[in-house]
Amino acid sequence: MGDTNQNANEARPAGISDFDVVVVGAGFAGMYLLHRLRGLGLSVRVIEAGSDVGGTWYWNRYPGARCDVESMQYSYQFSEELQQEWEWTERYATQSEILRYVDHVAERFDLRRDIQFDTRVTAATFDDATSRWVIETDDGARLRAPYCIMATGCLSSPNKPQFEGQEDFAGPIYHTGNWPHEGVDFTGQRVAVIGTGSSAIQSIPVIAEQAAQLTVFQRTPNYAVPAHNGPLDPAKVREIKADYAGFRARAKQTPTGNLFEVGGPSAMAVSAEERAREYEARWQAGGLPFLAAFADIMFDPEANQTIADFVRDKIRAIVDDPAVADLLAPKNIIGCKRICVDTGYYETFNRDNVALVDISETPIARFTADGVSVDGRVYEVDAIVSATGFDAMTGALLNIDIRGAGGAALRDKWRDGPKAYLGLALASFPNLFMVTGPGSPSVISNMLPAIEQHVNWITDCIGYMRDQGLGRIEAQIDAEEAWVAHVGEVADLSLRSTCSSWYVGANIPGKPRVYMPYIGGVPVYAQKCNQVAADGYEGFALS
Ligand code: FAD
Ligand code: NAP
Repeated sequence: MGDTNQNANEARPAGISDFDVVVVGAGFAGMYLLHRLRGLGLSVRVIEAGSDVGGTWYWNRYPGARCDVESMQYSYQFSEELQQEWEWTERYATQSEILRYVDHVAERFDLRRDIQFDTRVTAATFDDATSRWVIETDDGARLRAPYCIMATGCLSSPNKPQFEGQEDFAGPIYHTGNWPHEGVDFTGQRVAVIGTGSSAIQSIPVIAEQAAQLTVFQRTPNYAVPAHNGPLDPAKVREIKADYAGFRARAKQTPTGNLFEVGGPSAMAVSAEERAREYEARWQAGGLPFLAAFADIMFDPEANQTIADFVRDKIRAIVDDPAVADLLAPKNIIGCKRICVDTGYYETFNRDNVALVDISETPIARFTADGVSVDGRVYEVDAIVSATGFDAMTGALLNIDIRGAGGAALRDKWRDGPKAYLGLALASFPNLFMVTGPGSPSVISNMLPAIEQHVNWITDCIGYMRDQGLGRIEAQIDAEEAWVAHVGEVADLSLRSTCSSWYVGANIPGKPRVYMPYIGGVPVYAQKCNQVAADGYEGFALS
């Protein structure tokens, strides 16, 4: 990685420092914001809690961590030179390869000099009198700028449920989203993994190979589709790079910004044999396109059931012990919780050193000095891996005490669930923008193009404000309410909103149940954003 000492930490002035824009977060969103805003000739300071760039890929270093969007699509497209010169090695990039890419981008565009690392933003307050945001950090410093942009990430605030007796446990407790940078050697150890979401499903096969004994505590089983990862075919890469712009443009026309073929309109309109052929072909091809076998899978419960049954049959065929297979087979709607993409996950439960503990009826009672206690039995372990996910979409924003015009607090505004205009801006919070905020496609889509679309829109907006000699932009409450209502109506059409997932905040006790991402599709959403801008920022008050 680059030398993180050569960054904005070096020249940190005392007192309050003034910039044109303060950006919070230096993941893919914050990095590209910095690049674009510099292009407008603005002074920018990025504040990042971690010690280096990369966000998700800086923090999530658990064994087996990798992308489940194909690497040729999970990358920046703003620079033709960048996308031509970078060579991905695998169909799905590992966490470490993505971090190397991030480092390359930071060096290529000389980003680190305007990023202040190891610093957490604790508060952001809008000063009505001066139309400036005052940003406070955990080192007691204050920054001031007309614009504040939250690039704080949708999956960056780890969910760390507190188990009784946690402090009694003698060994280490790791969270997948905050993994030690030096790595963890589980050789010869007895390890517990709590959770069976994407992070667990990626890490379990790798930990099982290393550990003496692995015990998986499962509350809800998840659907996983094989990745069939492998080296990228050089011919395929050449073909994409011959017209990368065209490839990206076609991806933008798909519902999730992820280019793959969507099957026929209805699973129920074809014979059972034809459905099975389609599911099998997609299972063999691997990855997220599996769920796009037919266009109605996320809308028609009967169609959904056919593909869910297919996966359940696969699990029963892979897992030797029928009782374990039964526990691993999900009962709910497929795709309602985000499907996982795995490498040898179900096969791992055929190993002698792996055990599955069902905690759906009887939750973990407590941690003891030497293990995890469930239903009166202590499972003795040396280390615990908490793969318990994130306080998604709102967590990182609500961790900051954000106060808008007249002292309005975001924590009050979002008491009954997040409300935002286009997932980009907030009524009562002038000159504040969010990247991939609630009410935008964000986590339901390929995140890299989603981030670039938001960054481009925000940067263009700030440029427009400057060119027009305007100093203040604020989402109007009626536009925000209409958008929030639309987001909810569209969500209700789909089966996605029907189960308890992190998309609806169900994983966090007390979090209001609201379907947070916008599922109307990337093209419709981008068109709406473009139209709003073309109409002189319709739905915003400018002054
Ligand atoms: P992040 O990468 O989350 O960066 C936000 C940054 O803000 C963090 O570095 C954080 O430290 C910083 N921050 C937050 N609050 C503060 C504060 N108060 N003060 C200072 N700094 C702060 N998406 C896909 O499309 N495909 C995938 O395959 C995929 N895989 C994923 C795998 C994992 C394990 C996880 C957790 C997420 C995955 N995602 C995936 C989603 C992923 O988060 C996005 O793709 C993308 O990396 C988000 O970039 P970002 O810059 O918006 O946010
Ligand atoms: P997650 O999907 O929220 O899974 C968390 C798991 O922990 C669930 O199985 C959950 O059970 C369990 N859990 C939570 N609290 C618990 C408790 N108190 N007791 C017992 N079990 C508990 O989190 P994640 O796996 O970190 O994934 C989050 C998202 O990040 C993914 O959906 C995806 O968008 C992204 N991600 C992507 C990849 C990838 O393949 N590229 C990898 C990792 C993450 P319940 O289901 O019962 O709540």
